[in-house]
Amino acid sequence: MGRYTGPACRLCRREGMKLFLKGARCYMAKCAIDQGHGAPGMHVARRRARKMSEYGTQLREKQRLRRQYGMQEVQFKRFFRESLRREGVTGELLLQMLELRLDNLVYRLGFAASRRAARQFVLHRHIAVNGRLANVPSIVLKAGDVVEVRNQARSRDLATRAIEAATTQQTPAWLGMDKKAFRGEVLSVPTREQIAPIVNEQAVVELYSR
Ligand code: SF4
Repeated sequence: MGRYTGPACRLCRREGMKLFLKGARCYMAKCAIDQGHGAPGMHVARRRARKMSEYGTQLREKQRLRRQYGMQEVQFKRFFRESLRREGVTGELLLQMLELRLDNLVYRLGFAASRRAARQFVLHRHIAVNGRLANVPSIVLKAGDVVEVRNQARSRDLATRAIEAATTQQTPAWLGMDKKAFRGEVLSVPTREQIAPIVNEQAVVELYSR
């Protein structure tokens, strides 16, 4: 499936907030948002002067969420449809499914510096789920599933470097982590309060319900 391969910081600048797409750099003074760079493009000031419509606001919320997880529109909409099908609050279910994606879990456990790096880590066959090789970044895990860096020198070496560099990110309470064994476990499905992205998920639901 196609994916965005352009400059990551440009996406943050467009959304006007830190989406944490580049690992360690996002926590440094070099971050484009921290340096005060605004939205890219020639006519930004004119666009900004206009009041944003309701549709525009909803669209921005959706783009923020989708871009944080590095997903393309088709796949993101598929996740939304699935959350609609499930019983519960659609927006919350959507966030939970996004958090339980394998690439996001690899990132949250600190085996990779960013979601983009985590996706590549999974694709390059460095990860096992419940003891079996898993090389599909978009699979959604459930409580009780175990994510492990495969017992190969290259895999463990890459994960060690990422863990050592990850001084800023803490393992969320809903995940268990055994750093020595390179193993993490989904202890429970995260609650809305435990999910980090600052986004109005209800606006995303309203956008797709139009
Ligand atoms: Fe976004 Fe990270 Fe670039 Fe900052 S450094 S603009 S948070 S991708």
